[in-house]
This record gives sequence, C-alpha cells and structure tokens, in this order.
Amino acid sequence: MIAYKTDNYLHFPHKIKLPILCAEKKSVNEIKYLMKLLLSKLVFLFFPTLLFVSEIKGQQNKVYEIRGMSDKFNKQDSAYILRERVQNIARKYPEKLIINGNTKRLEVALTFDDAPDPYFTPKILDCLKNYDLRATFFCIGEQIVKYPEILKRIYEEGHTVANHSFTHPKFTKIRTERLLSELNKTDSIIHSIIGKRTRFVRPPYGRINDTICNNINENGQIVIYWSLDTFDWLENPDKMLSIVEQNIRKGDIILMHSNKKQTVKVLDYIISALVVRGYNFVSIDEMIKKTAYKKEVISDEQEQTYEN
Ligand SMILES: [Zn+2]
Repeated sequence: MIAYKTDNYLHFPHKIKLPILCAEKKSVNEIKYLMKLLLSKLVFLFFPTLLFVSEIKGQQNKVYEIRGMSDKFNKQDSAYILRERVQNIARKYPEKLIINGNTKRLEVALTFDDAPDPYFTPKILDCLKNYDLRATFFCIGEQIVKYPEILKRIYEEGHTVANHSFTHPKFTKIRTERLLSELNKTDSIIHSIIGKRTRFVRPPYGRINDTICNNINENGQIVIYWSLDTFDWLENPDKMLSIVEQNIRKGDIILMHSNKKQTVKVLDYIISALVVRGYNFVSIDEMIKKTAYKKEVISDEQEQTYEN
C-alpha cells in the first residue's frame, strides 16, 4: 500500500488518515487514540466480508422443515415421525443427504419417483416439454428393464436420471449387500441405455437412517430427499395444488410420482401457479451444483486401446 506523509499524518489512497506514531512526542492517550482509530478502520473494512461469509455459511447449512400434509394421516403417523429423523441426518451430513436447495433463490426442483412407465411418464414428459422445463426422474431398475425407450426419452429430453433402487424395497429392511446390489444393478441397466451411472439416490418410501445414508455415500452417491410432499399417490388434484400453493418456498424439492393419473392431471396447474409467482424450474444437479452422474472409470485395458 502506498502512503504519503504530510505534517504529522500518514495519508492512504482510500482516505484513511492516520497520525504518525512518534514515541518521544506522543502521549499515552494519543497512542490509545491511535489504536482505537486503527481498530475502527479494521472493523469498517472487514465487517462486509464477515457478513458475506456468514451469509454463504447460512445458505449451506439451512435445512428446511419437510412440508406437505394429508388429512388422511395424523401427525403421529410414521410418515411424519420419519421427517424429524431425516431432517437431523441432513443437518448432520449436509453433503450426504439433501432436503432442499438454495433458500435464497426463486427456484424449485420438480422430482418424479417410480419412473418409467408407458402410460403416465410420457404425458409428464409432454407437459414438461410444453414449458421447456428440466426435471429429475428417480427410476426403478425393474421398470427400466420393461420400458428402456422411456428412460432414453427422459434422458434425451434433458432431464436428470436418478436411482430409486431395482425392486423398490424399504432400505431399512434390507442388508447392506442387498442395498448395494439394488443401487448398482439399477446403475448397470441405466448405463447400458444412456452410458451413465447415477450419483443421486432416493430411498423408496423415504426410509433412511444414518447407516444407510453413509453406505450410499460410500457407494459414490448422494441421497436426495424432498422438502415438499404433494401426496400425489393419495390425494386428488385439487388438494395437491393447494398443498403446493400453501407451502411453496424458495429452493423447495417437490416430490411427485410419474406413474399417477392425478399427477398428470394437475402438473400443468402446479407449473402455471409457480410460474406466476416467478419461480424458475431446475433439475437437482443445477439446484445443488453437483454433477448428476459418476465419472467414468477407464480400465487399464481401455486406456491402452485409447493410447493405441
Ligand atoms: Zn417410490
């Protein structure tokens, strides 16, 4: 920093003027004054930086309370009790389990479980195409085997393909070996169709605990939960729309199913209602700024082929 001297003061380019410290001439009071002045300038300079850092930290750590209620359940139901556990895991392992995106951005992620199927998934894809929106589909291995062309369409239309197990079991009821085989078998079939292996996993029925979360993470994957449940498997289209309208927040991950008649019926209204409120629609990878697919591991044999 360049400073220049005039009289008894040092002048800095950004208008800070400090008295020159001269031990013989200055009294103790003057030295104290100088220290206070220095301190006040430092606070002035660093306060905005501190604010910025705390804001970033706050954004990273903010975990939403999971919303969406059905009159057909009460708060003592296991579906609601599970939410507390999931929120605690997300707070403990924010890199391993995601409930919501950035709470400061006017954006949401539409997510569809149990894809693909030959009747409703294509209609959902048509609707998303009309609005030119990207969504995320959590796919079941057994369904992909039956309808590979629908999976291909999901991918080719720019949506994100994610893993929802092979046979749709409750992860809390199966052993680790079975859990890994459910995930990896689904990835193999996805890979055979689109040439990618998934990084995002959603546990069937939302059943998860700390151990399963860690096992999924060690398998190179992240758990993607949701922050807003539309109860589309249970409720009528009107009720679904009101659940979304009454609960929507910035950064919400919205849970729906791609194999439900009522989801197809109401999707257009849900999107319109959110567009009016100014929301942008993003896929999970765009929302959380992480790649949706695993990096391809090239074997030594393949590497030699490329070199040749
Ligand atoms: Zn499911």
